[in-house]
Amino acid sequence: TDRTLVLIKPDGVARRYVGEILGRVEKKGLSIVALELKTVSRELASAHYAEHESKPFFPELLEFITSGPVVAAVLEGPRAIAAFRQIAGGTDPVAKAVPGTIRGDLALDGQQNLVHGSDSVESAEREIALWFPGLA
Ligand code: ATP
Repeated sequence: TDRTLVLIKPDGVARRYVGEILGRVEKKGLSIVALELKTVSRELASAHYAEHESKPFFPELLEFITSGPVVAAVLEGPRAIAAFRQIAGGTDPVAKAVPGTIRGDLALDGQQNLVHGSDSVESAEREIALWFPGLA
């Protein structure tokens, strides 16, 4: 069993898709072990997206992720990391995500793509420590 850090980004909260997205998570069979609505500081956003620091879209990405509250969650289950990325769909909601996925069904924009999910065991551990420092 593994754990993954999932974010419903500001566009997902603003568009009122929190229930829709958590519903898909639950239907997939993943368990919610931590859940919080949170306004993201620039410090947390920069740390979360540290790997993208040198990318041209980084400043805009920070603006976006700090533009309103996000829902942060830790999900647990067998292959939770891969399972969430499967139901999220590819990063680009049109070129990569297929219908039936969260992004494929509900998003259009390459940046405002509704959700984040950890991409490896190492990043999940790093991100869970960052977003939920109190969690074992
Ligand atoms: P996430 O890390 O949010 O789960 P991801 O792993 O699918 O997304 P990454 O390549 O790690 O994709 O990019 C992180 C986030 O940065 C994307 O989800 C998107 O919001 C934004 N992003 C990625 N590429 C671009 C781009 N070319 N232009 C604008 N924003 C981008």
